Order: sequence, then C-alpha cells, then structure tokens
Amino acid sequence: MSVTQETTDFLKEKLKETFGFSQFRGEQEDIIKNTLSGENTFVIMPTGAGKSLCYQMPAIAMEGTAIVISPLIALMKNQVDQMNAFGINAQFLNSSLNRAEMTKVKNAVISGEVKLLYIAPESLTKEDNLAFLKQAKISFVAIDEAHCISEWGHDFRPEYRRIRSIVESINTKLPIIALTATATPKVQQDIQKNLNMDDARLFKSSFNRKNLYYEIRAKRDDIDKQIIKYIKANHGKSGIIYCLSRKKVEEIANLLNVNGVRALPYHAGLDGDVRMANQEAFLNEETDVMVATIAFGMGIDKPDVRFVIHYDAPKSLEGYYQETGRAGRDGLDGTCIMFYAKEDINKLDKFNKDKTITERDTARMLLHEMVHYANLGTCRRRQLLNYFGEHVDKDCGFCDNCNKPTPKYKVEEAVVLALKTVELTGERFDAQHIADILMGYKSQYVGSYEHNKIETFGKAKSLFKLNADEDEDDDDDDDDEVEFSDEEDEDGNPIPKQKKAKPAAKSKSRKNAEPEPIEQCVS
Ligand code: ADP
Ligand code: ZN
Repeated sequence: MSVTQETTDFLKEKLKETFGFSQFRGEQEDIIKNTLSGENTFVIMPTGAGKSLCYQMPAIAMEGTAIVISPLIALMKNQVDQMNAFGINAQFLNSSLNRAEMTKVKNAVISGEVKLLYIAPESLTKEDNLAFLKQAKISFVAIDEAHCISEWGHDFRPEYRRIRSIVESINTKLPIIALTATATPKVQQDIQKNLNMDDARLFKSSFNRKNLYYEIRAKRDDIDKQIIKYIKANHGKSGIIYCLSRKKVEEIANLLNVNGVRALPYHAGLDGDVRMANQEAFLNEETDVMVATIAFGMGIDKPDVRFVIHYDAPKSLEGYYQETGRAGRDGLDGTCIMFYAKEDINKLDKFNKDKTITERDTARMLLHEMVHYANLGTCRRRQLLNYFGEHVDKDCGFCDNCNKPTPKYKVEEAVVLALKTVELTGERFDAQHIADILMGYKSQYVGSYEHNKIETFGKAKSLFKLNADEDEDDDDDDDDEVEFSDEEDEDGNPIPKQKKAKPAAKSKSRKNAEPEPIEQCVS
C-alpha cells in the first residue's frame, strides 16, 4: 500500500472510529506508515507508550491477516478480547485451544475474515500450523516483546530465535515489525541481527519516565514496618509490591490484610481462577495493593498505579525498569521504592549455579548492573537512562539521590594510607584488619601481629573525624543510612518475620568508625 494523503486521512478516521482516540501519540503515525509501505520496522518504546496500536492499525488497514507473535497466552487473550470489543476480528492460536477450536480459527483466517492472528512462538513452529500459514494471505508479521530474542534481555525465549527462518519459509517478502520496551544497545543489536533486520527503520523513543520517583532503601529488619507505614500514608492508592518468592508474597499480603490494608496475592503457584479473580479485583479497585511475583504485570494496563515497591531486588535493570514502569501510566506521579540488601543479590546469584557458563556470565553481568544502580550515590535516573543507551547531562531532581545527595568524602589521603598499610602488612590481611590498623584500634589480631607498631597505625582517625565534621548531613536520621543486614537466610526462603532490632549503639559506632558511605561500595 502506498502512503498518501488519503492514507493519512483514512488512518485518522480509523483511529477515531475504532479506538476512539483523536490523535496519534508520539511516532505512532510514522511507524504505522512505515509498515504500510512494506518496510521493516523496529520500535523501542517504554511500557505504556502505545506500541500495540502500531501494529493493530496497519492490520486493520491492510488486506489479509497480520500475524502477531506474542510470548504469553494470558496476554494474547486480553488483546484479542480488547480487539473484539473494538469490533475488530482478532483470534489467537495457542496450546489453550482444542482441535476443533483450532480448526475454526484456521478456517476463519483462510476465509480472510481475521485481521489479527495472535500466535505463540511454540505454535508458530508446529508443522501443520506452518502449512496452514503458507495457505493464508498474510499482511505482515509483528513480533511483540521482541527482547525475548536476546539472552541479554530480561526474558529470553529460545523459540523466539527461530522466528526469522519460519517467517521466511512462509514468505520472504513479508514486512516485519518488531516491538519491545526493553532495549539496551546490546539487546537492540541482538534483535536486529537475529531477525536479519539491519535495514529496518528504527523508532526509539525516550525511556525517561519523568513522573516516576526512584528511591532505594536499605533492607533492614524494619522493612515490613516501613512498607505498612508507607501504604498507610498513601491510603486507598493503588500499588504493587514485588517479592521474589511465592511464600513471601503470601506472607506480605497477609501482613497487609492484618494491618487493615486491602491486598491480594498473585503468583504462578495460585490456581488460574484465583489469579484471574485477584487481577480483576485489582483492576476494578476492589483491592488496593497487589502483592506479586514477577508473574504479575505483563500486559496489565492499570493507569493509576501510584507506587511499585520491590521487596527484593530484581535480577536485572531491565526487569526493574519494566516493573517500576507499571506505576504512573496515566502520567501522574508514581513512586518506585526498592529495598536493597547485598544478601538478596547473593541469593539471586544462587539461582545461577545450574546454568551454563555463558548463561551464568550473562546473568551475573545483569545482576552486577543492578547492584551498581542500587549502590549509586548519584542521580538514579541518569544511570538508568544511561543503561538504556540514553545520555542525559543533567541530574533529574526527582530521585532519592537528587533529593538528598549522599555525603561525599575526600578520600585520596585515606586511600594512600590504606594502600601503604596493605603493603606494610605483606598484602595478607582483610579489609577489616586494615581498617582497624588505620583507625588505631588494637584488636586481638592487630596486637598479636604487632601491627600497632607500624607507621600507619591510627593515621586515618583524624582524617575521618575531620570529614565527618564537614558533613552537614551527618545527623541522626537513620532512615537514610544504608546498612546491610548481616543475617543469612536458608536457600531462597523468605527472611523470618520476627527479628530483633539492631542495637542502635552498634550502627552508631560503626558509623563513627567507618564514615565512608556504604552506598558507594560496590561489592
Ligand atoms: P505498550 O504496549 O507500549 O505498553 P499499550 O499499547 O498497551 O502500550 O498502550 C498503553 C495505553 O495507551 C493503552 O491504554 C492504549 O489504549 C493507550 N493509547 C495508545 N495509543 C493511544 C493514542 N494515540 N491516544 C490515546 N491513548 C492511546
Ligand atoms: Zn535524580
């Protein structure tokens, strides 16, 4: 189809008539026209930006059936229901259908009635489906959640890697449109290479979600209390709490209920009916808080989610961005709080132990980026955007670090002293031992090695005292101090609920002994 003024008018009319929208958002119109003109298209847009319309519109406008490859059966059904409600004939083909239902869908496609056929990658590769697709009149192929192609994405699906050859076996001339909300430069390259789409026109919009406030808090014993306090202060607002384990999801949902908060659990271990009912309750405002594993969220379009809390750190920044991205889709402010503890990262890393070496390396690098982000002392948004290949030269003023900058210390002299101490003690002692020497603390070990007699003993004491005096922010406000819990959990099990609070004196003395902010130490 060639793109003319007529097309422009037609699209605008269809937009109003079918979807009830008066104008296109961002680059939607150009994207749609690119597909209409038979070109390959690559769309990278954050969640909520309106990617679906970019393939739904050309599907409506073009002759034949558009194939939409989508990774989640639940997601497919939502989209198909939505399309049908708009009066567009959309169907899906996946393992949830029985034989008779499948035949019915296929017949409808062959007869040319169907505008969009959603199909799971597994179904796409089946022989008889392939034979059927070869008979049908296909307009183009849309690959939703295209990051599933890449191992560097947060949701790698090996079947996604076979899409290109299958599409080619149907028809080499079919235009492809790949869409994703996650594309670090690495993922982007991977997708283009795998789909053999170097010629594709790229539409990449900014990932900056200006209305989202990013905050990282130290995960300490009082985490449950902090969460309840936050939710009570935001009474009646809609929010999601992400936990790593199903058990934790249940535990926190109960805890909130006991504390008078309307909350429901959502995880893959619940029956399909329960999951559906809980999701509906959340969408219909019958409950305020959804406590969930990452099984919840893809394709959920609730515009007024006001906060997303990460009880546990996610395994990548892609995941973090996706999950936090569910807040503030209506453009109003959303708060994203992540509770961070180094132990959680170790726990996440344990999941990597059965992976192949390559997979493990990938997973570890993603995790490392996450740790870096959590430990950051500077603007979170800049770092996050930077990770997605977007360079920003100003701090955002709307994240925890911008709001309350981490105290900075001059450390040059201290570093020189530390290195000297390491050298003088024969490069054999751990950090604590070196710190003890520098701070002039004659511990049992320092004494027994006579390290109290070396030249640098106690030399850092005055340095840090001076720095601490210069630091205006060094008040008693423990809430802003990152302090990692040192209590170990059993494998993958949630942290026990009732734990003793840390004695204040301990954290104080530690603070005095090591004024260097822990936030900046990347492990
Ligand atoms: P994405 O797939 O990028 O996460 P969706 O396609 O689900 O986003 O769209 C997000 C929301 O924006 C949906 O509610 C959709 O109906 C709405 N939307 C999309 N395009 C427009 C538009 N041009 N005008 C108004 N609303 C739109
Ligand atoms: Zn900032």
